[in-house]
Amino acid sequence: MSLPYLTERQLAISAVRRACVLTSSVFNKLVKNETLTKDDKSPVTVGDYAAQGVISTMIHNAFPDDLIVGEEDATDLRLDSVADLRRRIVELANEAIVGPLGVGDVKEWGIGPGQALSPEALMDAIDRGNYQGGRTGRMWTIDPIDGTKGFLRGEQYAVCLSLIVDSQVQVGVIGCPNLPFNTDTKGSIFVAVRGQGAEQLNIEGSQPTPISMPILAPSELNFLESVEAAHASHSTNDKISSILGITRPPIRMDSQAKYGCLARGDGGVYMRMPTGTGYKEKIWDHAPGAVLVEEAGGVITDSRGLPLDFGLGRTLGENFGVIAASKASHAKVLEAVQKAIAPEEKL
Ligand code: AMP
Ligand code: MG
Repeated sequence: MSLPYLTERQLAISAVRRACVLTSSVFNKLVKNETLTKDDKSPVTVGDYAAQGVISTMIHNAFPDDLIVGEEDATDLRLDSVADLRRRIVELANEAIVGPLGVGDVKEWGIGPGQALSPEALMDAIDRGNYQGGRTGRMWTIDPIDGTKGFLRGEQYAVCLSLIVDSQVQVGVIGCPNLPFNTDTKGSIFVAVRGQGAEQLNIEGSQPTPISMPILAPSELNFLESVEAAHASHSTNDKISSILGITRPPIRMDSQAKYGCLARGDGGVYMRMPTGTGYKEKIWDHAPGAVLVEEAGGVITDSRGLPLDFGLGRTLGENFGVIAASKASHAKVLEAVQKAIAPEEKL
């Protein structure tokens, strides 16, 4: 008997790899070679839409009945006024869909030479990501470019895909084109299937290596946190850090690349303390990371220690913030969090 979710795993790796090739090409063509004004998000827009279209098409070809919760929708892209942008996006998506990819690429998913998508088909594929989520059934989450600010800076970003079945994340894949795989190679893909462990592949989808979280003493721990203070409170993290006696500086990094780093032991604790705005975390920002951390031997909860609930819709609802750490550290971190937060700040 074959392992559960084997096809889903293969499909997810292949889709994430294609989307990583696409986003890297967008970066090289648009970010590096064009003069961008500070707030020009157009490369992100182009990359986001095209990558979601590619991933969604592959999911639909493999599992036509599966539902998809994707970050993007194509409403604005259908407008006549954005014909040029649309053309660029369709072109990019088709480059990613028809090109050969090598290892693990399965042609039966309707991807490959001669399979180019029409603009209509691509927009429909993007819009298939509009499922509102729910407690039962199968659904995929897509975050085509997580960490857009890191992407624009040429730093860390991630292409993130997960399969959730009856509110449990079963498969998670996080592609990080800019994250070193080892001292010689750039680009890492993190893969986890529930009950089957966590692993890291290179960006070509080969050299699979099992990963797990080491047990670290407080003196060896450091926090992995957002670059953007608006996404996660740096000051609360500082307080928690000193309560725990952590002396190592935090590692700041955009995107779910943080979950990959945590799972392979680059940092001790993923800390995402709420900023007090009542922001509801999106399921596509945490589902792949959640199964990766658990399969690497860790624990993931919200900032109050509650399990993350992926069955409430497109957001994590009443979960606020995220704490992920090894089994040995998580309870200690949670205790420090409670001490650090004044009662009136407790959510
Ligand atoms: P990170 O790179 O870890 O800072 O996370 C990037 C993600 O943060 C984006 O994909 C957004 O969905 C999410 N985000 C946006 N605003 C907020 C906020 N106020 N609090 C927490 N996360 C946010
Ligand atoms: Mg995101």
